[in-house]
Amino acid sequence: MAANKKLMLLPGDGIGPEVVREARRVAEWMGKRRRASFEITEGLIGGAAFDAHGSPLSDETLAAAKAADAVLLGAVGGPKWNEVPYEKRPEAGLLRIRKEMDLFANLRPALVFSPLVGASSLKPELVSGLDIVIVRELVGGIYFGRPRGIETLPDGTRRGVNTQVYTTREIDRVARVGFELAMKRHRRLCSVDKANVMESGVLWREVVQQIGEDDFPEVELGHMYADNCAMQLVRNPKQFDVILTDNLFGDILSDCAAMLTGSLGMLPSASLGAPDPAGRRAALYEPVHGSAPDIAGRDLANPLATVLSFAMMLRYSFDMAEDAGLIEAAVERVLARGVRTADIMQPGMTKVSTRGMGEALIVELDRLAA
Ligand code: NAD
Repeated sequence: MAANKKLMLLPGDGIGPEVVREARRVAEWMGKRRRASFEITEGLIGGAAFDAHGSPLSDETLAAAKAADAVLLGAVGGPKWNEVPYEKRPEAGLLRIRKEMDLFANLRPALVFSPLVGASSLKPELVSGLDIVIVRELVGGIYFGRPRGIETLPDGTRRGVNTQVYTTREIDRVARVGFELAMKRHRRLCSVDKANVMESGVLWREVVQQIGEDDFPEVELGHMYADNCAMQLVRNPKQFDVILTDNLFGDILSDCAAMLTGSLGMLPSASLGAPDPAGRRAALYEPVHGSAPDIAGRDLANPLATVLSFAMMLRYSFDMAEDAGLIEAAVERVLARGVRTADIMQPGMTKVSTRGMGEALIVELDRLAA
């Protein structure tokens, strides 16, 4: 059995605790089946942390998250904290942990499970078997660049300013995540920019091209303008393997790609930092969805996005691709048996609760591992 792995759970708010509980069951199943053992700790983040100690992320929790091998987060936020000052809001806890752990690479797979192919807004033949990943730079670019702000000009008109800025170092480190990921997949990387109209895009393209030529000659590298990429994602998404892009374009393109798969309750993500000398990256895994206050506490939420985020953790933090694949196969089989939470319910299928979905998964894992 693989050595103990330190896993920190940050369930957060709303449906967060409900969906993380089901992922925890899967982690514990792995321990019982002696595939890997996890030393699991839990902490508070978001509104839950604010209620407990007046801050959406305490220094102690942050330190524990940094010390863990990987963090699995549920979701934060909800109307209960609407009146809380901006810097103490639940979302501030999430932004702080991403920033403090310097999680600069955000990985968002868009994977279509065949039983859910009908849930996509695109024709089944365009999305059936779709399996792409978008790598988005997460801590740089126009969302952080300076100068920024709104100013009043001498003539009384006002001007809003944001600055798109990337250094070669920032481009280099996220590009390498993209190339390394492509090496583990189908060895194709599409780098997306607006080099036709933006200097930051010209630099982005140059740096990515150079890394490809020098260090990843096995990867088939292409470049695409962001507007064309948006079009290609809905025209023929299966042409892609790994898409690498900046913070702004990644924000938009990853939501677009996500919707090809049909449901928010199915979408996992990973955010990775720089490797330490031992090659271990700081890493936080979380479903793409939020805290869904409208269904929180009612055992209705779909836990699969969180379970699939845990599978990503196995693959990217622990090099346990086989076990990650086992979980993904169990998800596919549960769906193929017609088991559905309310958000992905279809006529003739069996509707289950959050817990019910977790139980069905364990049954399927037992079958697969038998
Ligand atoms: P949301 O993702 O929470 O919910 C959008 C819709 O999708 C809701 O109808 C919800 O019921 C449904 N939904 C989401 N996840 C689901 C799941 N697993 N199973 C079934 N249905 C699901 O987005 P929102 O409503 O815009 O935001 C609600 C709160 O979550 C806000 O406070 C927002 O700030 C926060 N939020 C947090 C994160 C995060 O923690 N990463 C991300 C987005 C939004």
